[in-house]
Amino acid sequence: MPDVSGPFGGLRDGTGSGSRWAARLAAVVFLSAVGACTSWLPRPDLGSPALAPDLAAGEGAGLSATFLGVSSLVLDDGRSSIVVDGFVSRPSAASVLLRPLRSGEDVMEAVIERTVRGRALAILVAHGHHDHAMDAAALSRRLDVPVYGSSSVVRLMENSGLAEDRRRVLTNALIALPPYRVRAFATPHSPDERLSGEIAETFDTPARVFRYRGGQNQSFLIEHPLARVLVVPSAHLRETDLEGVRADVVFLGVGRLGRQDETFARRLWCRAVRHTEARLVVPIHWDDFFEPLDRPLRAMPYLVDRVDLGLARLEAYARRDGVRYQRLERFDTIDLAAATGLTRVPGPDPVSCPA
Ligand SMILES: [Zn+2]
Repeated sequence: MPDVSGPFGGLRDGTGSGSRWAARLAAVVFLSAVGACTSWLPRPDLGSPALAPDLAAGEGAGLSATFLGVSSLVLDDGRSSIVVDGFVSRPSAASVLLRPLRSGEDVMEAVIERTVRGRALAILVAHGHHDHAMDAAALSRRLDVPVYGSSSVVRLMENSGLAEDRRRVLTNALIALPPYRVRAFATPHSPDERLSGEIAETFDTPARVFRYRGGQNQSFLIEHPLARVLVVPSAHLRETDLEGVRADVVFLGVGRLGRQDETFARRLWCRAVRHTEARLVVPIHWDDFFEPLDRPLRAMPYLVDRVDLGLARLEAYARRDGVRYQRLERFDTIDLAAATGLTRVPGPDPVSCPA
């Protein structure tokens, strides 16, 4: 739950239990008032993204990715699939603030039916916040597949009742899931993280959102014979985080990027896209995850982010560096192998990378 500004900060900053409870009460009162009507909050109208015909995965696409909002993706080659996050329940803000988080079994079944063609091999979870991790346990049960993540994510899965062989710690390491290879990189969460810290304690589930602390954030390089796919769920990278990594496609988190300065945005671009030599960039984590998947995705409200600015920067960098830019609607399926056929043709004014 990275991206909600305001009283959530008090939860992190409170020192004594009294101030923590006061902050929590303030958060509940404020956000339940807001939460009841978040869909009315002003936000940029991004319009509906059009998936370019040459990038749309047709029948029999060799390797595709279906976007499910936030940083949730299903990669599929027809025989086997890998799920990133798999957050599909998307409870409203009021529900998140007032009730324990329960996965929506109906929406999950519908999503699996629609997106998972091959046998699922893994669920990779970026970090412990609810907009990444809350459905992983239920999805693991449905797909009979392990969840991979940080120690906090694994503890969350344990608390959710997943058996030991269904929860695996994966940080700064590589695993072979033929025909895929997955490398997990510890990379920072976007700045001003809310609900930071580790999930170390045992608690019952369903649990309240306050239990869903971030823990270590991770980016994933998913290599398949047909394409190398980098997923950077949270909009922040240090200089050496992805040193030596090469990718064809980058799914790049832009959460709160519109709130950072231009140099920060350019650094992220250079570290995630320029230095990896990617030829296609797909922005993720721009949508309002308090809205359900049965409606077209909408940008986060201005109260939280300047999504229009973050995306405009990305699009401009892509143009200057000759990289294809493609935003996706939920359930859009993009042909990842098609990205390998693209060439990078920088314009006259390529992005200059800050140190
Ligand atoms: Zn987060």
